[in-house]
Amino acid sequence: MLETLRRIVQDVSAARDLSTALSLIVRRVRKAMGTDVCSVYLYNPERERYVLMDTLGLNPAAIGRVSLALNQGLVGYVGQREEPVNLDNAPEHPNYLYLRVTGEERYHSFLGVPIIHQRRVLGVLVVQQKAKRRFDEGEEAFLVTIAAQLAAVLAHAIANGSLSLDRAGQRKSVPYNGVSASPGIAIGEAVVVMPPADLDAVPDRQCEDAEAEKALFDQALMAVREDIEALSARLAKRISPQEQLLFEAYLQMLDEAALGGEVHKRIDDGHWAQGALSHVVRRHVKYLEKVEDAYLRERAADIRDLGRRVLAYLQARSDIRQDYPENTILVGEELSPALLGEVPREHLVGLVSVRGSSNSHLAILARAMGIPTVMGLSDLPYKRLESESLVVDGYHGQVICWPDEILSAQYREHMRQDEALTEELEVEARKLCETLDGHRVPLLVNTGLVEDQSRAQALGAEGVGLYRTEVPFMMAERFPGEQEQTRIYREQLVAFAPFPVVMRTLDIGGDKPLPYFPIEERNPALGWRGIRVTLDHPEVFMAQIRAMLRASDGLENLRILLPMVASMHEVDEARKMVMRAHEELQSNEGLKLPMPRIGAMIEVPSMIFQVGALSKRVDFLSVGSNDLTQYLLAVDRDNPRVAGLYNAMHPAVLRALNDLALKARKYQLPVSLCGELAGDPAGALLLMAMGYQGLSMNLSSLPRVKAAIRRVTLAQAKQLLVAVLPCETTQEVEDAVAAFSREHDLEWLIVMRRKA
Ligand code: PEP
Ligand code: MG
Repeated sequence: MLETLRRIVQDVSAARDLSTALSLIVRRVRKAMGTDVCSVYLYNPERERYVLMDTLGLNPAAIGRVSLALNQGLVGYVGQREEPVNLDNAPEHPNYLYLRVTGEERYHSFLGVPIIHQRRVLGVLVVQQKAKRRFDEGEEAFLVTIAAQLAAVLAHAIANGSLSLDRAGQRKSVPYNGVSASPGIAIGEAVVVMPPADLDAVPDRQCEDAEAEKALFDQALMAVREDIEALSARLAKRISPQEQLLFEAYLQMLDEAALGGEVHKRIDDGHWAQGALSHVVRRHVKYLEKVEDAYLRERAADIRDLGRRVLAYLQARSDIRQDYPENTILVGEELSPALLGEVPREHLVGLVSVRGSSNSHLAILARAMGIPTVMGLSDLPYKRLESESLVVDGYHGQVICWPDEILSAQYREHMRQDEALTEELEVEARKLCETLDGHRVPLLVNTGLVEDQSRAQALGAEGVGLYRTEVPFMMAERFPGEQEQTRIYREQLVAFAPFPVVMRTLDIGGDKPLPYFPIEERNPALGWRGIRVTLDHPEVFMAQIRAMLRASDGLENLRILLPMVASMHEVDEARKMVMRAHEELQSNEGLKLPMPRIGAMIEVPSMIFQVGALSKRVDFLSVGSNDLTQYLLAVDRDNPRVAGLYNAMHPAVLRALNDLALKARKYQLPVSLCGELAGDPAGALLLMAMGYQGLSMNLSSLPRVKAAIRRVTLAQAKQLLVAVLPCETTQEVEDAVAAFSREHDLEWLIVMRRKA
């Protein structure tokens, strides 16, 4: 049964359009369950009815014609209950509604289960039989399982192909909802980024020059042929003649008469080489996977493997793209931070990632660079978006595909207003950061990208509160060498001197993998990350510390920050290494360097309870509220499914932050915060009231935060804190913040998400 289930879900996922998917479902479910009827009804939001989309067993003429209101018939009843309805004699049920065109009067037993995706009923899957009998528990469980699995696939297909066919035909202004990852609005042209050599992820693209595409394909084919011949020759002595035949078979598959010829034909029909190859290979694989003969079935894997090899060559040729459109919006299933470096900054206006959420590192970098970004758009038909026009609404977490002229004009007007406000705030940002009653709060910036420096100072940043050293590591193709690191760090230190620069030691792992140092783990957020990695690799850690120390020669503004510490042992070990590096540089190279101040990040909740112990070991604390929130609430910061549960304004997070500030004061340990909460004007006011001595944020947030601080007194901010601390729910916190903003005329600053 499990195998049947797996195959149905797999085939439905691979279906190219909604009607193929639906017809597959009714055929395969009816066969698997041996019922007389299987039908699928989908909810049509425009008509507010369940529409019979496909059936096997009922009158086919009813497809698309029969529909039921939400409270009508047994189908409506299943939808309302959001649970299966299992009846041995359906016509006796009070909700039974007989519709002549279906011809269903012959069927007595009825089992209907809802298809639910993200708490929304998408439709109802029904099986029926002539006999009067109740479906048994196993049958019910099968249908429930299949409906649950199909829900996500269908949700995607519906969003993709649009249930309303007229809308799909016109392709006008189709909105897709995700989560806001970086505020702002962008209008531009989609450039779709594909994962390498993934046959299922090749976007549809037309080709203009079929001959050139065919030539590209032939070259790739030739390269693969050579690879296989070389491999076969290398292995000739070690494998049997029979196994050698396999390579022969491989080579034959590549022949013009086989794969090659079919791909050529499809290119002639107007498709680009990668798309044609993907189509042909997938079709063969699908066919072979279904045949009875075990030997032939196994050939499916061979063809897929060959296809991947050819695709890899094709992509290697088109990998390095030079011609990014002027208003590029990068779109991909999972955009990586390294990609940001590939598109010239002046061309990049927006980012759209199907996976990830507002707290992932891509989002943080996007905010640092001020690029409007939306993530977690599981329904976005991203493969079909190449070169299409898009609007990215980073305020509301929405992407609009194929916007019409009226909508585009509205968004252009939003952009204009935004620019005017930013300009105004940037002028004010040059003034001192102090409250109306003269309380000073230094605002610092989070950096990692080279381009941050000059603007940060122009906007009155009083140093760097968090330099994410992993960013230059992510952009490289191997661990950067000690000298290379020294040069990069020195640039930062010089640019901000005499202001402090807090350099965090390498914080990789979790959602920050290095392409050349993959860490595969089941539970990466709780795994080998941050200080755990560097303590296990003293050669990497020591090189980094030496580079930082050397870079600080004569500047005296270096602070070193240790990420993800969870115990005193880690702090002690790390300190020892910093001291050793310092000692080495003094004695071996004769450098006269002061010992830099060392701080610990508070990201792991255990550290909130060890402030006393920390005060004996470090010179300052810096709270990483992004990870602290993740660990306090047990919500993966990178998972769009639970993004709604992730909120640093949760009362427990705020209380933890307040407790920490009190303890730090008790032990006279300076404490600042460098997570995203510092860049939220309301968060910043609360942190200032708690006694945080420095707030470090993305540069793009700084003008707004400064404007908020300059419009209140410290006493007023403390009143807000007093109102917020006893709150029991996040909503109560948000309400208290909203009331405060109204009272002090700060809504325009604090309520970031404006009404559209
Ligand atoms: C944090 O966790 O709040 C933090 C600043 O570090 P990062 O976001 O880089 O993990
Ligand atoms: Mg962190």
